[in-house]
Amino acid sequence: MAQRPRYPIIDGHNDALMNFSPIGKHSIEDFFGRKAGCQLDLVRAREGGLAAGLFAVFVPDDESTAMIHSFDPSVEYVLPALEPTYAARMTMAMVANLYRIEAESGGQVKVVRSMSDLEACLRAGIFAAVLHFEGAEAIDTDLDALDVYYQAGLRSLGLVWSRPTPFAEGVPFKFPHSPDTGPGLTEAGKRLVRACNRLGIMIDLSHLNEKGFWDVAHLSDAPLVATHSNAWELCKLPRNLTDKQLDAIKESDGMVGVNFVVMLARADAQDKADTPLETIVRHVNYLVERLGIDRVGFGSDFGVATVPNDLADAGQFPRLVAALSAAGYDDAALRKLTHENWLRVLRQTWK
Ligand code: ZN
Repeated sequence: MAQRPRYPIIDGHNDALMNFSPIGKHSIEDFFGRKAGCQLDLVRAREGGLAAGLFAVFVPDDESTAMIHSFDPSVEYVLPALEPTYAARMTMAMVANLYRIEAESGGQVKVVRSMSDLEACLRAGIFAAVLHFEGAEAIDTDLDALDVYYQAGLRSLGLVWSRPTPFAEGVPFKFPHSPDTGPGLTEAGKRLVRACNRLGIMIDLSHLNEKGFWDVAHLSDAPLVATHSNAWELCKLPRNLTDKQLDAIKESDGMVGVNFVVMLARADAQDKADTPLETIVRHVNYLVERLGIDRVGFGSDFGVATVPNDLADAGQFPRLVAALSAAGYDDAALRKLTHENWLRVLRQTWK
């Protein structure tokens, strides 16, 4: 039985654009339908009360696609750097697709650039999309592309996906392992952090290795944010955050978006869809205990990876909210987890 949305949801991370990338399985029109295999489209967003989301531009290649579709925790995945021209071309195509979705939505979707844009969309019931880069491969070390993409709406940026860039190193998929997997930021990476602070682009710490994390923590003047990561103590993949990292996020008044992908949630990191919703609730509980109720939200990662059957797509957000309510979160807490915390952090970060 479908639950009715009780709260507007702001989701800190989705990979929906992967479905509509030049090598994805869907055309842009499918964003407005209810096509099998799309975990996030406009119909499912409306069903689930999803009001706004950060849309990641993640550049897929053969190695990353194979890993995402058949993750095996007994294999160590070390993913190579992208070829820069390929990354630039794919990024341009995926950003263009987000704008095509907006243009073809008949006013139902807007790419937002400011808090006033976002708040106006929430009031008017227009689905708000924030342009986010998951990995800075399309940015040159002179940062020319950063200024151009900022003008094009870029408001959130991860220095890396789980592979090296000229700016930093991402964590490999290796289980169990700590996130301390290599060197910190390069000089160009430090310049990129300062430039993001200056422009008011949110810096996403998900996928960054631990030395890089501490470099950003020391350099950045914005709240520390991991848009889609879980608690390392409950799932020991390097993609998740140790207690020490969580303490630094709390100290900075940042936040973590809880990731629904099962390999990042289960204690055994297995890629199994028959994972109970309770597994995700446990990460929410852990993060709330460590960070406080004001510093946790959702970062679904809806797109192409395996999520629990009971949380199979964006239409199912109310099921998670119901499970959290049953776990004891009251109305004020649910408002924070579903949307207020993301609003607070974006307000503190964007210029
Ligand atoms: Zn990711």
